[in-house]
Amino acid sequence: MNLCSENFPQRPAWTEIDLGKLRRNLQLIRRDLPRAVKLLAVVKDEAYGHGALEVARIAVEEGAWGFGLSTLEEAMTLRDAGITAPLLLLGERQEAELEWCVAHNLTVCVNEPHTLRRLAKIAADFGKQVPVHVKIHTGMSRYGVRWDEALPLIERVVAEKTLVLEGVMTHFSQSDETEKTFANLQFARFNEVLHALAERKVPVKLRHSCNSGGFLDLPHAHLDMVRVGILLYGVFPSQVCRQLPGIEPVMSVKAKIAAIQKLKPGEVVGYGMRYTAPTERRIAVLPIGYGDGFPRVRNEGCALIHGRRAPLLGGIAMDALMVDITEIPQAQMWDEAVLMGRQGDHEITVRDIATLKKSVTYDVLTNWRLRLRRKSVNGHQQPANSMETVAAK
Ligand SMILES: *Cc1c(COP(=O)(O)O)cnc(C)c1O
Repeated sequence: MNLCSENFPQRPAWTEIDLGKLRRNLQLIRRDLPRAVKLLAVVKDEAYGHGALEVARIAVEEGAWGFGLSTLEEAMTLRDAGITAPLLLLGERQEAELEWCVAHNLTVCVNEPHTLRRLAKIAADFGKQVPVHVKIHTGMSRYGVRWDEALPLIERVVAEKTLVLEGVMTHFSQSDETEKTFANLQFARFNEVLHALAERKVPVKLRHSCNSGGFLDLPHAHLDMVRVGILLYGVFPSQVCRQLPGIEPVMSVKAKIAAIQKLKPGEVVGYGMRYTAPTERRIAVLPIGYGDGFPRVRNEGCALIHGRRAPLLGGIAMDALMVDITEIPQAQMWDEAVLMGRQGDHEITVRDIATLKKSVTYDVLTNWRLRLRRKSVNGHQQPANSMETVAAK
């Protein structure tokens, strides 16, 4: 018997994270950006489901300046694991969080005077000079101080001896659509604030506004730094934005065939008998279901097996789905199936799954459940030279 944890039998359904592709995407993004523009890699929500720590380690090697995160726990996890790069918390902080942020050298966005005063006081208690970013709402109506009321808040930051105004930022409501009127209005509002600061000779090291859509389509808005999330993971924020050649999806979802059934004409498949075999059929059971984050579809979608499309039959269950392998006679027990990603000449894209789910690609990436273990591959490629593979393509 050898019941040690290295031998623990992994479930035959998993997400695969191709760290080599992540590295290449980072290189392509870095190469497309002017040298002076910094890259903030957005790794909130476990790097959109890809695993924040592994993503962060590679992003540091590929020249990311720092990381964008959402929750205190996300940021502390990276800090405690030894990531020393700046960690910028993008949302609003509760007062009780500020002490922890200062203690762990996490950078916060301040959007209102009370938080600012508390933060300055805590920084003084720690004997630290704390960098802050002021978030300006220019039309998104989410976090931030209104653009036409921002100056007094920024001046207060500058007046606090223990705070350093490191950044001033805004966020676009729509940057990846063909229609850029509102994005341009938001950027004009942001510029009003930046001009007012320049007139008052208030130095700001990092002015930033762009997410992936802005990085691709609003080069005049790059300023000092861009905050790129979804594009790092190889998914374009929309179908109409600029395409950066060579970018490839990092995540795939896979499962192994866990049962094979033969159906006679008239026999049915799954809960609710949603599929009736018109002729003799051979079907494979894949041990993955809506409990893993697969959309709850019926007779829609497919898996790739031996490089062929195997259509999904009947309704998907919590832990299983059935696909038609009549046309793939070589398919056997424990053969690998791809539910999202590429196999042979075929691909099921993140967008295909989003369509099945009637949602967006962001939601698909972040909603695979963790009981599908993440298996990372190609993590040990050398940082140098991998650009040549892209150029050769
Ligand atoms: C999530 C987020 C981003 C990254 O957006 P992508 O579209 O994934 O590039 C950038 N900035 C802020 C403030 C965000 O919340």
